[in-house]
Amino acid sequence: MRTQLLDANKQEAIFTAARILKDGGLVGIPTETVYGLAANALNGKAVAKIFAAKGRPMDNPLIVHISEFNQLYKLVKDVPEAAKKLADKFWPGPMTIILPKADIIPDEVSAGLDTVAVRFPSHPAARALIDAAGLPLAAPSANLSGHPSPTTAEHVMNDLNGKIEAVLDGGPCGVGVESTVITLATNPPRLLRPGGITLEQLREVLGEVEMDNAVLNPLQNGVRAASPGMKYKHYSPKANVIIIDSDFDAYRSYVNHHSVEGTAALCYNGEDAGLTVPTICYGGEDDYGEQARELFDALRKLDDIHAKTVYARCPEPKGVGLAVYNRLIRAAGFEVLHLG
Ligand code: AMP
Ligand code: MG
Repeated sequence: MRTQLLDANKQEAIFTAARILKDGGLVGIPTETVYGLAANALNGKAVAKIFAAKGRPMDNPLIVHISEFNQLYKLVKDVPEAAKKLADKFWPGPMTIILPKADIIPDEVSAGLDTVAVRFPSHPAARALIDAAGLPLAAPSANLSGHPSPTTAEHVMNDLNGKIEAVLDGGPCGVGVESTVITLATNPPRLLRPGGITLEQLREVLGEVEMDNAVLNPLQNGVRAASPGMKYKHYSPKANVIIIDSDFDAYRSYVNHHSVEGTAALCYNGEDAGLTVPTICYGGEDDYGEQARELFDALRKLDDIHAKTVYARCPEPKGVGLAVYNRLIRAAGFEVLHLG
């Protein structure tokens, strides 16, 4: 199949993409978080194609994207007060809410769970496309399963060219990590995945919000994942990534003393000057927003330079730093080296 690359700023391209979706095809779409791989969420056969194109395990459910709050009522059993409060504050935007699902949701979307994840994105092209198609769109990230999530149309083409009908190019993503996922199907509500909307912000609106154990820790053997996506090794470049927990001086000294063929550094802006190995920078040390925006592109660049072992700097798990930490620790397979 030839994958069309469409310009998201053109109305004609939105209509072309909407037609593909109405006909049961797949389109890579820009959102403010990462690029999504979209299909008609109400068509199980179309949704099944997403799993095939990505090589995604069938037990990993998808997020349904809407373009108006009222569309939520059709997708879930009941809209609780907490959902209205969250939506009021954070929709449209990078937050996904999980609720018990309505019967209209195909099993392919919910991967057999009795809940569904719903998000109202703020990206103008995503909203225009949902409106033009007149459909809720199921979309996980538009990468091959296991690869870092795509934050540009080029990343999507690199992974899925020839496997999907089209990609809408809307430029680089503003947030750069996937949405914050909160479930309201438990009491108290629980954060399943950190993102651009922080745990601190969720607590300001709802009071008590638990953090799922899988946000910071590997899933223990035999424990069922609240968010199935958390159980897979994720976001990984080909290299073996090791997080170094230390200040910059100790990091620099460790990296420079352990440099062999294929060693690379994933570090903060400006730190490359002190390192004797190839470096990829992913934002300022104190700028978690910039780190989130840059991280996935940086992980892909490590593949481009054929890095074999990568020593990574990693932020504090707070604010948007929690989202960066959560992705990086998975890219590292939870391997952290603590230096004095
Ligand atoms: P992606 O957008 O590629 O990150 O994939 C969607 C993410 O949402 C995955 O991590 C899923 O595990 C999570 N997700 C989707 N639906 C549900 C659900 N009903 N319950 C828990 N997690 C979900
Ligand atoms: Mg994904």
